[in-house]
Order: sequence, then structure tokens, then C-alpha cells
Amino acid sequence: MTETSRYDRQMRLPMIGQAGQDRLRAGRVAVLGCGALGTVAADILARAGVGYLRVIDRDVVEWSNLQRQSLFLEADAAAGRAKAEVACQRLEGANSTIRVEPVVADVTVDTIAAILDGIDLVIDAADNFAIRFLLNDYSLRHRIPWVHGGCVGTSGQVMFFDGRGKPCFRCLVPSMPPPSAIATCDTAGVLGSATHAIASLQATEAIKWLAGHPEAVRRRVWSIDFWGNRNREIEIPAALWESCPACAKGELSFLDGAADGGDAEAKVLCGRRAVQLPPPTVAAPLEVLAKRWADLGVVDASRFFVRLRLEDEVSITVFRDGRAVVEGTDEIAKAKSLHSRYVGG
Ligand SMILES: [Zn+2]
Repeated sequence: MTETSRYDRQMRLPMIGQAGQDRLRAGRVAVLGCGALGTVAADILARAGVGYLRVIDRDVVEWSNLQRQSLFLEADAAAGRAKAEVACQRLEGANSTIRVEPVVADVTVDTIAAILDGIDLVIDAADNFAIRFLLNDYSLRHRIPWVHGGCVGTSGQVMFFDGRGKPCFRCLVPSMPPPSAIATCDTAGVLGSATHAIASLQATEAIKWLAGHPEAVRRRVWSIDFWGNRNREIEIPAALWESCPACAKGELSFLDGAADGGDAEAKVLCGRRAVQLPPPTVAAPLEVLAKRWADLGVVDASRFFVRLRLEDEVSITVFRDGRAVVEGTDEIAKAKSLHSRYVGG
């Protein structure tokens, strides 16, 4: 198998050719979030020959993911495997000539620099606004382009940001919307074909940019209602970017810690009957926890986490970055008490 035969149909496109394929091979892309958008965008980019993909997700595969997250199988949900790990295995199976790297971690103000180190372009496949604001600040400071995508219900939108501002994401959304104002897939549902379409549009903009065609990149917000058959292209008005706190005034408050991304504290995970707890000051190594738990319940261990399954469908999963997810409760106090009893710290 030669590179020409693998990428023949793509290299026949005059705007790609050998030069574009070489540029794609040199590309280093982070896929931030490995859900409905991230699995599809990563699959397209891997098959297109983007030379390095870093897939970042803090979560494990659940049954409710299978309706749209096409890199995952039933066995992954049954085993509760880490999404980033499973995704990278499947991507390697699709294209063994590229490099893929799974990162099972929470993206926070403290971790974003390490997570995006050495990256040329980011696919925003995150499921929350806190990460997007942080990514926008990081992109402006380090001049890293990113492709925003979002999809809820039967509608979605895509926008490319080149990391130089005017516009940036905060021109569009100046401040964090209150939680009550945000519809999420967990509460409003989502159509699997809509998320595939949005992820495909994100991957398309990424391929244009990486293949050396910035002039072809769509510079407007593209918003599509796939069920209602409506689509809009919106140019961000100059009045908005002239007054933008981030790209016009240089206030990168999410990156510099003045604005709270809201991710460092214990929180109930939307729609899941689960609570996420931040890493304790001193975290016990996963191998130590696995040994300590051996007699207490069923223990699942992988390279990325260790999980203790207790009675009454309660489980505690501790990830290598120290984060824990307590499932089977939506009470923060109960989760903290279980955590201190079984994990300590
Ligand atoms: Zn801006």
C-alpha cells in the first residue's frame, strides 16, 4: 500500500494534490472532546492523513453515547472504557500511518497549556462553554486556530477562528451564559445525523486550513437547522469585535484566572446521576487504590483509571490526573463522603 493509493481520491482534487497531502501529514491537531462531534471529526481527519491527532476527553463510554458517537461499540459502553483510549485504538485501526495520542484529562486553566502543547489547530468538540472560553483565550494568546462546532436538538453551528481575533468566540458570546440558559444534549436531545453533519463541516474547514488554503476557509458563522430546513450565514458585525473584551481589549480573563471557568470544583454531571470531584492535594497512585479496593467490590483497572463498583449501582472512578467521578448519586455531599471513605486525601 502506497500513500498515493491510500489518498488517491483526495490527492486527485486539484486543491490538495501532493503538496496538500504533504501539508496534511505535517499537521498536528487536537480534538478537544471525544463525543458526537469529536469522534466524527477525528475519524475524518485520521482517514485524510493528518499526521498527528491528540484526542482529549475526561469521560468514559456510556450506552447513551452509541446513538451518535460512531467510534464506540456496545462492548466499550459495557466495560465503561475511557473514550479517548477507545477512540485512538479505532483511529489507529483506520490509519496506522499517522500518530494518535489519547489524553484522559479535564481541560482547565491549569492543564490547557500541557494539553495543547505543540498543536497547530484545535477542533472544538467540547460539551460546555467553560472550555470554549478558555480555548478562545488560549488561541488568542498563542495564535492557534480552532474550529468551533456546537449541536443541540436538530440544529448546529460552525465557525472558524484563526487565533488572531476580530472576530473571536467572545465577539459572539461576550460572557458565560447562565446554566439555565443553555440547552444541552442531555436535556434537549440531539439528532445523530445533525452532529455528524456539523462535525464533517468542522473537519472540512480544518482540512482547508491545514492543506494550505486559508483563502477557502469560511469566515462567517454558519448555522443550520437540519429539521426545519433553514440555514443562515452570519457575519459578525464590526461593532461587536470592536468592543470585544478578549480580542479588542486583550482581556484573557478565563486564561488569566480572573473569570471562573467553573471547572475546578465538585459538580453534578448533567443528565448522568454522577458527581465529578477535583483532584485531592495528594493523590494516591491508581495501582495503590486498586490494591486497597480489592476486597471491597468489583475493581476495573486500565492505563487511564481505576474504578470501584459498590452495591446499589454506586461506583467511584479515579482518573490518572486525580479527578474522581462518583456515579449513582447526584448529591455532592454524598459523593464527597464516599470519596473520602474510599479514596482519602
Ligand atoms: Zn473577540
